Parts: sequence; C-alpha cells; structure tokens
Amino acid sequence: MPASVVVVGSLNMDLVTRAPRLPRGGETLIGESFATVSGGKGANQAVASARLGAQVSMIGCVGEDAYAGQLRAALQAEQIDCRALSSVEGSSGVALIVVDDSGQNAIVIVAGANGLLTPDVIAGYDSVLAAADVIVCQLEIPMHTVGYVLKRGRELGKTVILNPAPASGPLPADWFSCIDYLIPNESEASALSGLPVDSLESAERAAGQLIAAGAGKVIITLGAQGSLFASGQGFEHFAAPRVKAIDTTAAGDTFVGGFAAALACGKSEADAIRFGQTAAALSVTRAGAQPSIPALSDVQAFKAS
Ligand code: ADP
Repeated sequence: MPASVVVVGSLNMDLVTRAPRLPRGGETLIGESFATVSGGKGANQAVASARLGAQVSMIGCVGEDAYAGQLRAALQAEQIDCRALSSVEGSSGVALIVVDDSGQNAIVIVAGANGLLTPDVIAGYDSVLAAADVIVCQLEIPMHTVGYVLKRGRELGKTVILNPAPASGPLPADWFSCIDYLIPNESEASALSGLPVDSLESAERAAGQLIAAGAGKVIITLGAQGSLFASGQGFEHFAAPRVKAIDTTAAGDTFVGGFAAALACGKSEADAIRFGQTAAALSVTRAGAQPSIPALSDVQAFKAS
C-alpha cells in the first residue's frame, strides 16, 4: 500500500473568461473565451499528492449543482478516494476569473459548499483522518474547522501540514503546537508575521518570528528563489531548480502536495523539500493549475537528466 495523505480543504470550479481588458463597474464586455476548470487549493494539493506517489483521500464539501459531479470526477480520475466528500445544499465553491490580454486578472471567489465544511462533518470521517500518515489543510474552509482538524490530527499523532493560504493576518496562537510544518509563501508569511517578506533575509526574520510564536518548523516558499526551511535549530535555504517559467499558477499547491507525498512515503525532510521543489519547478513550465501538476515519473526523469 502506498503511504496515505488526507487533504482536508476546498474544491472550487474555476470559471475562466478571457477578455481584451477587465470590465469597469457597470460595463458589459464581449469576452474571447470561457472554460470551466477544476481547482481550489485543497483539490489542487490532493491532485498533486496523488500524481506524485501517495494514496490520497479528500475530505471536503461540494454543492448540489452541475459542478459537483465535475469536481468529484476530476479527483476520481486521479484515483483519489472521494468517499469523504459530502454533498451539501447550495452551490459548489466557485472562482469567477477574468483574464485580460496582458495577463492581468480579477477574481471573485465564492466559498459555497466549502463554507459548510464544519467540525461535525469532519468528525463523521474520523476513521479517514485516523488512517492518514500525513494530514494537509489550507484556509479556504472555515477557520474553526481548520482548528479542529489540526487539533484532531495532533491527538491522532499524525504529521500535520498547514498551508496558510489565503492568509489575512496572524494565526490563532493555540494552532502552532498542532502543526508540524507551516508552509506559507512570501505574502502569506508577511501576513502571518506582520513583517515584510521579499528576500531571503526578510524571510529568515519572518520565519524566526513564527518559530518564536510557537511554530515547530516553517517552510517559506520563495518562488524562483526556492524555499527557506526554519526550525528551532536554525535556517536552511533550498535553491529551486532553474527552469523556464511559463505560468506559476499552482506552484505552491504542487510544492505542498509533493512535499506531503514525499514525507508520507518516508523521505527525509530535506529530500521531501527537494522533491516538492522539483515538482513545483516542472509545474511552472506548463500552463494552468491542475493540468500543470507533474507525475512522479516526470519528477524522476527531471532529476535523472
Ligand atoms: P505560490 O504559488 O503559493 O505563490 P511560490 O511562488 O513561492 O508559491 O512557489 C512555490 C514553489 O514553487 C517555490 O518554493 C519553488 O520551489 C517553485 N517555483 C515557483 N516559481 C518557480 C520558478 N520560476 N522556477 C523554479 N521553481 C519555482
């Protein structure tokens, strides 16, 4: 049996419109194209972990609309166990995205069903959490649900990863002792610590502040600069593989999913970071979110080249 990752988080249908420019208030524009693409940070990270070698279960909620079936099918196509996906009243999570000809975008996210993922729903799937090697959570579901999952994961003795995305401020202080790996990007690290983060040095200051606040281990992802690992023992910088970036969408999700899969499969922390970075580097060489996430064989072939 491959090692098991349980992702507790969001599923969104991305409704992506291309238009010559972003519309102004009250304006109607003629768009150039439209596509529906499965997304949501939870689902993206589940897909990444599954493609990168783990047995994955996802705990989440979809609505009672046409998107629910598509969101579920996208995960099932990756052999992700969807028995812990609940159907709830109302719409599935959606992201309304307009991209203009210069690549600039405007996005409205509606939590929909993701907002109805309560601790009660999670408690109904306690056996799924109990079967995990690694539990992964993000912040696109209610905060009190995230707090419940972190605490329950700690009680069950699991390796607990929090990707604090999106972040708008500091985390509740009592979460830190329940998290093994806190993985923010630069802007999230800044929101969490209240410090600017735009360089390796400033990332060290923010990571140091998060460790002082009680975080055990922190990995701040730094885009093309790789990532900074921090623990009570100090800092280590992991440089990213050099690639030609085409589209960095889902780089962070690929890193988190790949890191979780590698840890679950028994790799050391440092090797899991390198593995996640190689997977994320490959993802930025391809367009889109879920379609850009590489398979384990792609990562192995890249390392061998
Ligand atoms: P997010 O997508 O959440 O903003 P980052 O931009 O920090 O996260 O990217 C996450 C990881 O993806 C980085 O730590 C790095 O390993 C990899 N990555 C991102 N951009 C590049 C790039 N241009 N070249 C190589 N690796 C990249």
